[in-house]
Amino acid sequence: MGKLIIGNWKMHGASRDLAEADAVAADLARRPSSARVAICPSFVLLHRLAERMAGTAVAVGAQDVHANDQGAHTGDVSAAMLHDAGASLAIIGHSERRSDHFETCDQVAAKVRAALAADLEPIVCLGETLQERREGLALEVVLRQARDSLPDALAGKDFAVAYEPIWAIGAGVTPSLGEIAEIHAALAQALRQRFPNTRPAPILYGGSVKPANARDILALAEVGGALVGAASLKASDFLAIIRAADAAVAR
Ligand code: PEP
Repeated sequence: MGKLIIGNWKMHGASRDLAEADAVAADLARRPSSARVAICPSFVLLHRLAERMAGTAVAVGAQDVHANDQGAHTGDVSAAMLHDAGASLAIIGHSERRSDHFETCDQVAAKVRAALAADLEPIVCLGETLQERREGLALEVVLRQARDSLPDALAGKDFAVAYEPIWAIGAGVTPSLGEIAEIHAALAQALRQRFPNTRPAPILYGGSVKPANARDILALAEVGGALVGAASLKASDFLAIIRAADAAVAR
């Protein structure tokens, strides 16, 4: 089955960088990928990127949604607005949202419900801190976050979970392949139990995925794709990761 490869541009990128997405789309048009590919730019680029990506193999997503449909929430953007602007998916509960904006699992679950109501596919992020990993608590923390961040409303819906150890994000280091496989297998089991009649959600790995390590990580049967930060900003790196997903599937 094809992997899901999502680029998270975070607070990077300006008009000129839309050309990077054009280059990704053009390459995928020349040589289709087995992977489902999406790019999540900043809110201000989303509409323009969605127009440029229309009819291509690149979907466009948001990096966050507000839990409410509309209202007096200065500076926020609702899921319905993002859908209207051309988004088809949304990253929710990224650790940078959880730390910068103190988002709790309950708030994340509310945002997931809002995304579903607006027809956005939620990509829900989970991950432990370095201290939790060192204390042997990684699995427990991630499973607890999954329990509390994933609302029952996901039953029967398309969604994905991204395991993103916080200490690996933007750090140039990753867990070992065995550690990634362990967390992914446990998450898959938890999801099967919680959502028995739902198409299995891909479980993405995120945290310093780059061309050099993508093939090994994506070759793990438990890994359904990748959430890619820094390496999604340049078409050449992002495409190398997409092609690594193809190679992993072809093995
Ligand atoms: C991310 O922010 O989701 C991420 C995985 O970042 P990076 O790939 O840069 O570690």
